[in-house]
Amino acid sequence: MRIGMGYDVHRLVEGRKLILGGVEIPYEKGLLGHSDADVLIHALMDAILGAMAMRDIGYHFPDTDVAYEGISSVVLLERVRKLMEESGYTLVNADMTLMAERPKIAPYIEAMVEVISHVLAVESSAVSIKATTTEGLGFIGRNEGMAAQAVVLIEERTRLFTKA
Ligand code: MG
Repeated sequence: MRIGMGYDVHRLVEGRKLILGGVEIPYEKGLLGHSDADVLIHALMDAILGAMAMRDIGYHFPDTDVAYEGISSVVLLERVRKLMEESGYTLVNADMTLMAERPKIAPYIEAMVEVISHVLAVESSAVSIKATTTEGLGFIGRNEGMAAQAVVLIEERTRLFTKA
């Protein structure tokens, strides 16, 4: 078994869609980035790559490459899942925390878990998404941006067959 962690930050700006955990959330602002800037999935992908010691999403999907301009992070997560499969690993569980002052995230968490567990081909109980504000403190509290953290556990797939 191997553990991995990921962290990401994106700036909130007007004129962008807000996509979190693969779900479009109605809001007056969205996250700025080369892709759809889904901060939650970015942290998750970095955690999975980190668990395999396979660098980070900037290495695999460089923001200088026009191929990734405006790309859905769900598509990138699918590629990371393929990398995981090719490397002989399977996801045990993922735990994520989204840090955002506004809007309220709770109504969308179930849909995000649905999207992510589907893409990673795991039970929804293997995916946990939590959301917190920072009590008005810092750049998140001022609603200038959002941050996300993710921790994952992956397991060598062969071990599934060696269990008694
Ligand atoms: Mg990012």
